[in-house]
Amino acid sequence: MSQRKDLIIIGNGMVGHHFADSFRQSDAADQWHIQIVGEERLSAYDRVHLSDYFQGSDHSALALGTPQSYRAAGISAHLGTRVERIDRASKTLVLNDGEELSYDKLVLATGSYPFVPPIPGHDAERCFVYRTLDDLDAIRSAATNRQTGDNVGVVIGGGLLGLEAANALRSLGLATHVIEFAPRLMPVQLDDAAGSVLKHKIEALGVQVHTDTATDSIETLADGRLRLHFASGDNLDTDVLVFSAGIRPRDELARQCGLDVGERGGVRINNHAQTSDPDIYAIGEVALWDNRIFGLVAPGYRMAEAAVAHLGGGDSPFLGADMSTKLKLLGVDVGSIGDAHGNSAGAISFRYHNEAKGQYKKIVTSADGKHLLGAILVGDNSAYDSLLQYYLNDIALPAEPDSLILPNSTGAPALGVDALPDSATICSCMNVTKGAIVSAIDGGCCSVGDVKAETRANSSCGGCAAMLKNIVDATLEARGVEVDHSLCEHFAHTRQALYHLVQVEGIKTFDDLIAKHGRGHGCDICKPTVASILASHWNEGVHEAPHVKLQDTNDTFLANMQKDGTYSIVPRIAGGEITPDKLLVIGQVAKDYRLYTKITGGQRIDLFGAQLHQLPEIWQRLIDAGFETGHAYGKALRTVKSCVGSTWCRYGQQDSVGMAILLENRYKGLRAPHKIKFAVSGCTRECAEAQSKDIGVIATENGWNLYVCGNGGMKPRHADLFATDLDDVTLIRTVDRLLMFYVRTADRLQRTARWLESLDGGLDYLSDVILNDSLGLGAELDTQMARVVDTYQCEWKATLEDEQKLKRFRTFVNSPESDDNVVFVEERDQIRPATADEKQHIIASA
Ligand SMILES: Cc1cc2nc3c(=O)[nH]c(=O)nc-3n(C[C@H](O)[C@H](O)[C@H](O)COP(=O)(O)OP(=O)(O)OC[C@H]3O[C@@H](n4cnc5c(N)ncnc54)[C@H](O)[C@@H]3O)c2cc1C
Ligand code: SF4
Repeated sequence: MSQRKDLIIIGNGMVGHHFADSFRQSDAADQWHIQIVGEERLSAYDRVHLSDYFQGSDHSALALGTPQSYRAAGISAHLGTRVERIDRASKTLVLNDGEELSYDKLVLATGSYPFVPPIPGHDAERCFVYRTLDDLDAIRSAATNRQTGDNVGVVIGGGLLGLEAANALRSLGLATHVIEFAPRLMPVQLDDAAGSVLKHKIEALGVQVHTDTATDSIETLADGRLRLHFASGDNLDTDVLVFSAGIRPRDELARQCGLDVGERGGVRINNHAQTSDPDIYAIGEVALWDNRIFGLVAPGYRMAEAAVAHLGGGDSPFLGADMSTKLKLLGVDVGSIGDAHGNSAGAISFRYHNEAKGQYKKIVTSADGKHLLGAILVGDNSAYDSLLQYYLNDIALPAEPDSLILPNSTGAPALGVDALPDSATICSCMNVTKGAIVSAIDGGCCSVGDVKAETRANSSCGGCAAMLKNIVDATLEARGVEVDHSLCEHFAHTRQALYHLVQVEGIKTFDDLIAKHGRGHGCDICKPTVASILASHWNEGVHEAPHVKLQDTNDTFLANMQKDGTYSIVPRIAGGEITPDKLLVIGQVAKDYRLYTKITGGQRIDLFGAQLHQLPEIWQRLIDAGFETGHAYGKALRTVKSCVGSTWCRYGQQDSVGMAILLENRYKGLRAPHKIKFAVSGCTRECAEAQSKDIGVIATENGWNLYVCGNGGMKPRHADLFATDLDDVTLIRTVDRLLMFYVRTADRLQRTARWLESLDGGLDYLSDVILNDSLGLGAELDTQMARVVDTYQCEWKATLEDEQKLKRFRTFVNSPESDDNVVFVEERDQIRPATADEKQHIIASA
């Protein structure tokens, strides 16, 4: 056998690893001895999901390659080792331990480093960057070493990574600020309006955003904390400071050995990823192609594949890459596609802005409106996948392109899977087309998991998950194969199956469930679903340590967030019955905190306009007066509405108020797949409108008629008569069983009406199970409900009794002040949020 040639890869990051992996699988692999030199002590890991490290993930979960896997593949890996110098004349390089290696071909995959602006004091002990696992360890240790109880974290840089770092600081329990020099967040991807919607949403989550703010210097205080001095003269103290002000290619080796580099850095490459020295390739974030550095992983992978092909004598050139991004930043959807700013000649744009929901959508089209050039989405990414396909595949837009971003539009044809050509790229990270996915299914793959394993689609950033699932489902259905109904890619089970696993195996935390029955770290679909299952089954507080990180915003703050970022408060008023004294307390609280007050459709009193830090004070007063949380924020029992019933009404046949109070107190706190509403009427005149509720109870001469599975809302459904003339005990036992059966078997976010429609056999089947106990589940359902009823606790009361939990309720860092950005005007003798125009006027004249 002829002597193998030496191929050395410098850098064991994502792209260097991908190159090694692809090269090893290429036909040329046998002729080469591959070596990797990586400066980091750990082998290559998934940097894109770096932040998962703060959610409990570790290096092994993020690892792409390990010393063992490299060894098994015949690759020599020198980890924790830096290349100090390259000698192109002798084709050798020198490592930091003095060892010398020779190469025939060299690949530079040295990535980039975070740019730290040269602000005086930037090198203080508590200043960090956000790039490696070691950086994250250092940040965590600095954040948790100080236990003052009010630790602050600041990120300088309001771009994509800055916001991700801010989320990490927040998850470490720090009161978090983001400082951005530009007038808006994510200036590269968003326009002014989008930036301001994003800012507002992020501030509503408790992260303070300072745009248009330049930091002049960083002072280290006597106690080690840092004081940022701003150009405006203001300053801000912090415990931890993270720089995220952009990246710079690590081209120092290239400069040292005389390769061509760009004026602003980066190693120049051609379409084969070759540098100015044909024996040296550069790939990933260190490479400069057509005067562009690509700060995303997918273009790096494409460069790696171009270099692999070229080394094997083939030709698969790198011709640029799409930089569209779809993200969830601090739980807020953000999408940016193509020419988002409309810089192309003749471009026209269409915008939709819903202030109430904090949604902003913009599309940029060609002058004739036929082609999509770019888009911006904030607050709702549901249109992203379709828009991206219109953009990438140049699919002709509908006659009214704005129909693609307007809500409830019927004018836009949905971009179904069939509309996509086989060449449509579905996963840009791994370069997988629709055609490849369909072929994988034709080759025997029967689920998203199979297709993922076969094609590697959706194995990097995860942005294509929904589109991949649509294609897999549609293709399987077209071939008559039953579709997999997995909850999401992390659990190959339905919600119902997960419920049973939790129940049977006594699983009490998300981490245990995913370790035993799932994979990865979870997502926005499975986390709240599992949180709801655990809460329904074990009834532990949603604020308990293992559960709180799974909750959505409303459950996290035990209040409903409203359009201006303030919160509303709904005390429970069981059955709608309230004493004058309690009314006075609510009135006084509303007056003292200047809250807008309204009677809800469910006969409760809603107090609007409270800021995050005010919630505990207000709830303390309400709880002292005997109120409890009304769960208006949760997927749980909301209200049991009632008429006055036989006590006062001359038609009344039973005490509807008494029954409503009994039912409400019994099921309060029951967590369910969706919110649940009840009503009780004292006679068939039905003043409480019970037949539009999930559970409707109507008094008869002989007892109670029970109606089930009705709802109002977007798709109303009249409830069905389920049982007649029930006595109190039978009524309650029937409702117990029905609710528990719903909680156990419904899909996530499925209301009772849709659940009933989905049951094979519909109402007859449900009657059989609940009334005739055909499955023999009755006793078990009774026991489960009894446990929930017996372990009820008011979530607000529990929160107020726990210092740790209270730390979450801060509008601002180190300041008890209110948020100036929250502006009200008076209308009908009460406050309401100012409109954008009013706000501008009020702030300007303040
Ligand atoms: C928090 C975070 C989130 C991100 N999110 C996304 C995302 O959602 N989508 C996306 O597409 N991209 C994302 N990125 C960017 C993505 O991670 C990078 O594009 C990708 O990791 C670049 O890979 P690379 O191999 O070129 O560089 P790197 O992964 O940085 O690897 C370079 C390696 O080379 C080593 N090295 C450098 N010099 C030497 C030397 N002289 N000797 C030996 N070794 C050396 C470095 O230590 C490093 O380990 C994110 C990045 C971060 C930090
Ligand atoms: S439903 Fe019957 S009992 Fe209740 S208020 Fe109306 S008329 Fe009276």
